[in-house]
Amino acid sequence: MHKKLFIPGPTEVFPHVLEAMATPMIGHRMKEFTALMDEVVPKVQKVFYTNNFIILSTSSGTGMMEAAVRCCVNKKALHTVCGAFSKRWAEISKSNGKEYDVIEVPLGKAIKPEMVEEKLKTGQYDTFFLTHNESATGVMHPLEPFADLLKKYPDIVFCVDAVSSAAGVKIEVDKLGIDFLVTSSQKCFALPPGLAIAVVSDKALKRAETVKNRGYYFDILQFKKYWDTKNHQTHTTPTISHIYALNKQLDKILNEEGLENRFKRHIEMANFVRKWVKENFKMFPEEGYESITLTTGENTRGISIAKVNEELAKRGAAIANGYGDLKEKTFRIAHMGDLTMNDMKWLIEQLDDILKKM
Ligand SMILES: *Cc1c(COP(=O)(O)O)cnc(C)c1O
Repeated sequence: MHKKLFIPGPTEVFPHVLEAMATPMIGHRMKEFTALMDEVVPKVQKVFYTNNFIILSTSSGTGMMEAAVRCCVNKKALHTVCGAFSKRWAEISKSNGKEYDVIEVPLGKAIKPEMVEEKLKTGQYDTFFLTHNESATGVMHPLEPFADLLKKYPDIVFCVDAVSSAAGVKIEVDKLGIDFLVTSSQKCFALPPGLAIAVVSDKALKRAETVKNRGYYFDILQFKKYWDTKNHQTHTTPTISHIYALNKQLDKILNEEGLENRFKRHIEMANFVRKWVKENFKMFPEEGYESITLTTGENTRGISIAKVNEELAKRGAAIANGYGDLKEKTFRIAHMGDLTMNDMKWLIEQLDDILKKM
C-alpha cells in the first residue's frame, strides 16, 4: 500500500506531476529545450517575487548549498546553526576549506538578529548563511528582521536555505535582498527529488567572479554563461523530466490555486496541526518561531513514535520521527506541498484513534 507522505520531504507527489515527469524526451541542445526554459523560468521568478537569475540544478538542494559556499565565500562565512540542516551548511564551508564562524543555539530555539548583528559588526565576514525553516526542529525564522539587518551590510552576500519553505511560504526575494536562495523540488514544490532551484542576485554573481576554485558542476558562473550565450541552456545535461514537471506544477500553482491561496493553505494546515499538538503533547519549537510547513511536537507522553508510524502505515500514511538525537523525543508532521486541510483532518483522526489504542 502506498503511504501518503506527511514527512518533510519527499512530499506527496500528485498524478498531474507524475504524468508530466513521463513527457517524451528532448535534447538539451535543441530549440525545444530553450522554449521549455523560457516558459518555466519566468514562472519560478513569480514564486519568489524576483527578477534575479534562476538556476535549475540537477542535484538535490544540498548541491546548491555547496554552490553558495564555493562561489560566494572569499574572506569568511558566518553560519547560524539551530539543527542538522543548518549544521550541514557550516560543514560544507569546513569541507571546502573556507574560513567560517558559527552562531549556535540549542535545538528548538531560534537564531535572533541581535546575535547576528554582534558578529557582523566586527567586519570579518563577507557571507551570511541562514536556514529559513530548520526541518530537524520545526523552527522557522521570520526573514524580515534579518533582511533589515543585512541592509546595513551591503558588502555581505545573504544566503538563505529555503529548502523546506519555498513555495509554501511567501518569500519576496527582491524586497528582502536575498542574494542566494536555495530550495529543492521534493518539499513544498511537491515534485520528486532530483532538482534544486537557486535564486541568485547580481551581487552574488559579481562576488563569484572574485572567488577562486569554484569547481565546475556547481559553478554559478557556468550556469550564467550558458544562459547568456548558449540559448538558456545548462552546461551539463539537466534533468529535463523534472523541468517538465516543474513547468506543469507552476501552472497549477500560479493559475489554478494562486500563490496567495497556496500560502494561506499552508498557514491553515499549520494552525490546525499545532492546535492538535498543543491539546495532546507540547510544541517543540520556541514560541513565536513555529514552522508553517512542518509541526514538531515534543513526545511528552513518552509513547513510541515508531509504533505510531507502524500503525499509521497500515492505514496508508507516514509521519516523521524526530531527527537524529531528537528521535522518539519529538515527532514531525509535515504539511507541505499539495496536501490539503482534508488530508490533515484525515491524518489527525487516524492519530487520535491510534493514540486511544496505545
Ligand atoms: C531537506 C532539506 C535540506 C536538504 O535538501 P536535499 O534536497 O535533501 O539536498 C536542506 N535544508 C533543509 C532545511 C531541508 O529541509
